[in-house]
Amino acid sequence: MSRLNRRTLLQGAALLPVVGAVAGGAHPALADGHGATPGAALYTAPLGSFRITALLDGLAPLGRGFFFGGAEVDQVLAAAGIGPDAVPAPVSAFLLQSADRTILIDAGMGQQETLGPGFGRLTAGLAAAGVAPEDVDTVVITHAHPDHIGGLIRDGAPVFANAELAIGEVEAAFWTDAGIMAQAPAEAQPTFQLAQTVLAAYGNRINRIADGAEAAPGLTMMLSPGHTPGHCVVRIDGGDRQLMMIADTLHSADVHTALPDVGFGFDSDPAQAAASRRRIFDMVSADKMLVAGSHIHFPGFGRILTEGSAYRYLPATWM
Ligand SMILES: [Zn+2]
Repeated sequence: MSRLNRRTLLQGAALLPVVGAVAGGAHPALADGHGATPGAALYTAPLGSFRITALLDGLAPLGRGFFFGGAEVDQVLAAAGIGPDAVPAPVSAFLLQSADRTILIDAGMGQQETLGPGFGRLTAGLAAAGVAPEDVDTVVITHAHPDHIGGLIRDGAPVFANAELAIGEVEAAFWTDAGIMAQAPAEAQPTFQLAQTVLAAYGNRINRIADGAEAAPGLTMMLSPGHTPGHCVVRIDGGDRQLMMIADTLHSADVHTALPDVGFGFDSDPAQAAASRRRIFDMVSADKMLVAGSHIHFPGFGRILTEGSAYRYLPATWM
């Protein structure tokens, strides 16, 4: 529980100005995101008894420096035609609809500008899908970073007036622990504050989910720590079709499959995150499961195959 890694938290925080610079320099269209009305970007597919919709909240122009590692990282990025100035990572959330449920998995960055302006497109995506915020009955939170929970509040008030929040019990405990927060570096304080603000806004509508328990019928939360201490993936059982929402198990479908042990700037414990990454990748490749990822090329549906001692990402074409 107390695996707060001061070094990596500081590294992540120290890189934030670089992100801002990249956002302003390489993405001029995003630079005037203030006041702009970002459009909807969504992709819908059947998933057994559910319909699943990927909703793009925005693009995070991550810097190369977020990925720890040397020439091997540069080689993978060059082969993928990416960088070296920026490694664009979408921020996606996923809507699940069944006959009687409307469930959102994560909620995007919303008004938060941790990674620069230009986020909050989730709202338009939901509207384009014909879903009003009041229609959402459950929001499942994979972890409490701003790009996953920022969209839960607007001007401090809950966006989803009728929704219950499901969050892993380890994750909820970590970000609300006053002792851990007191020991965390100054750069991490806004993340703690946002998590606490969001959880307080939803008051008594929060369900803390144990490892391996269901957040909603057919949605099993599985603890996958390292990116954050309580980071969870969500196994979705649509009856004849299964999908693993792997959240932040990877931050580049190219880098983190070819080089699964490469640490990432916002990991609370990069070694633990790498072990979780291999465990989840082994699981989904052995079970030939579809995956969806928060930061996989939009819409973010695919498969992960083993390749030697590493892996390969194959975008889904089944839709
Ligand atoms: Zn994320």
